[in-house]
Amino acid sequence: MVVSLDTVISLCKRRGIIFQSSEIYGGMAACYDYGPLGAEIKRNVRNAWWRAMTQERDDVDGIECSILMNPEVWRTSGHVENFTDPLVDCKSCRARFRADHLDGYRARYKVTGVVEGSGEGQYEVELGPAIPGKVILAGHKVDDRMFERVDKIEYTGSPLACPTCGNKALTEPRLFNLLFRTHVGPIEDAASTVFLRPETAQGMFVNFENCRGTMRRKLPFGLAQIGRSFRNEITTKAFVFRTLEFEQMEMEYFCKPGTDEEHYRHWVAERYNWYIRYGIKRENLRLRQHDADELAHYSRMCHDVEYNFPMGWGELEGIAHRGDYDLTKHMEATHKDLQYFDPETNTKYTPYVIEPAAGVDRTVMCFLIDAYDEETVLDRQRVVLRLHPALAPIKVAVLPLLKKRPEIVEICHKLTGDLMRHWKAVYDDTAAIGKLYRRQDEVGTPFCVTVDVESLEDGKATVRERDQMTQERVELDRMEEYLVEKVVMVPPKVEEPVAI
Ligand code: ATP
Repeated sequence: MVVSLDTVISLCKRRGIIFQSSEIYGGMAACYDYGPLGAEIKRNVRNAWWRAMTQERDDVDGIECSILMNPEVWRTSGHVENFTDPLVDCKSCRARFRADHLDGYRARYKVTGVVEGSGEGQYEVELGPAIPGKVILAGHKVDDRMFERVDKIEYTGSPLACPTCGNKALTEPRLFNLLFRTHVGPIEDAASTVFLRPETAQGMFVNFENCRGTMRRKLPFGLAQIGRSFRNEITTKAFVFRTLEFEQMEMEYFCKPGTDEEHYRHWVAERYNWYIRYGIKRENLRLRQHDADELAHYSRMCHDVEYNFPMGWGELEGIAHRGDYDLTKHMEATHKDLQYFDPETNTKYTPYVIEPAAGVDRTVMCFLIDAYDEETVLDRQRVVLRLHPALAPIKVAVLPLLKKRPEIVEICHKLTGDLMRHWKAVYDDTAAIGKLYRRQDEVGTPFCVTVDVESLEDGKATVRERDQMTQERVELDRMEEYLVEKVVMVPPKVEEPVAI
C-alpha cells in the first residue's frame, strides 16, 4: 500500500515511537526524540548493522570515538572549507532552499572580462547550483567559453520560480557551511573553537594505525562505528529524514590499491542486500550511481542505496570509494606515517578506502514505512506493522483473557518473566482481548500469547501470529522454547548479485 508521511508520523506519535523534541516548549525544528518503542526499534537497527559488520565477518572491528575532535582534523579533511551547501532564499516569501534540491535550478550572470577568441566584453553565463566565484575563474571554461580574465560577475536572476510562492525572486546561491561550532573553555574565540563532528568517518581514519597495530590487522580490514553526527542543515523537512543531529553507521574498509574495485562492488552488493535481509521490499529499493559532478570532494566513485519514501526516492546510505584521500591528507598534516607495510610484497603503500555510510534514523524511517499496512478483517480495520521480528520493539505480548482470575494472571506473569530473559516481552491486561491484539499489531509485535480459562485445565495457551492472525494452542511447558524458535532474530544472509 502507498503510505503517506502523515500516516507514519501520526502512528509514531500515537504509539510512542518518535516525538517532536521539546514538544511542551513548542518543539525544536528538525530535532526528534525516540520514545519507549522507538528507542527499541532504533537499538534493534543498530544491532542488526553491528552484527553484520563486526560479528558475522572476521575482517571488521568496531570502535567508538568522541564527538569532539582536534579541530585540525576537520581542516585536514576539507570540511571546514568544503562542507557547504548552496543556499538560495526567496525574496518574496522568505522560503529557503538548497539550490541543488530545486529541480533544474539555473542562475544567470553577466560576466565582464576577456574570453579566448572573443576578446574583452560582457558575457551572459548560466550556471546550475554552483557558486560563481568558484567556477567563473580565469583559466576555466564556462558554458563553452574559456575565460582569460574575469573582472566582474553580476547576478541577473534565475529563470526558476520559487516553489513555495511562484515568484521569480530567488537570490543568488551562497555557500553555507554545515559544521556546528562550539567552544572549549570559558573564552569564546577562534583558538577555542571546536566542531561537533559532521560524520563519524574521521574517527576511523585518525585511529587507523592505533587499531591496525593493536589488533595485528593485515589488509584488507575495516573499522566500523555507530554514533551521533551533527549538521547545520538548511532544509530540514520530511520527519527524521533530515535532522540537525542524527546517528550514522559507517565503516571504512582499508584495502590494497588494485583490489579496490572488487571490494567496492562487494560492499555495494552487501549493503543493498542487508536491507532486503531485514524485510525491505525490493520494489522500494534501488541503487543509484553518482554522476561525476555530484561526487563529494573526497570521492572517486559512489553508489547510493535509495528508498522510495512518500516524498520520493531518497538516499539511505552512500557507498563511496574514498581512494587514499583521507589517510594522505592526515599524513601531510601530522607527518605521521599512516602507510601500510605489506609483508607479502615487502612494499609500503597508502591503503585505499571503501566506505559504506548509512543513517540510523533514515533506516528506522524506511523500515517503518515499508512495514506499515492497513487491512479490513471481518469488517474491522486494523493497522499492522509488518516489521521483521529482529527489528520489532516487542517480540511477544502475554495477555490474560480474564484479568479477574488470579490463577490466569499468575501464569501470565510467570511466562512473561521467562520470556523476558530472551528479548523484550510484555504483559498487558488494560483492555479487552480484541483491542489488545490491535494495539500489538500496530507496533509490530510478532506474537501474542493468550491465557484463558481452558489453559487452567489443559495447560495450553493460544499463540496468535501477527501477519496471518493464525492461532495455535501450545503447551505452556514448552511455550518458552517454542517462541524462542519462532521469533527469528537472525534472518539468513541475502547474497544475491547486484548489477552495478
Ligand atoms: P544528503 O545528500 O541527503 O544530504 P549526504 O550524502 O550528505 O546526504 P552522507 O554524508 O553520505 O550523506 O552521510 C551518510 C548517511 O548519513 C546518509 O546516507 C544518511 O542516511 C545519513 N544522514 C546524512 N545527513 C543526515 C541528516 N541531516 N539527517 C539524518 N540523516 C542524515
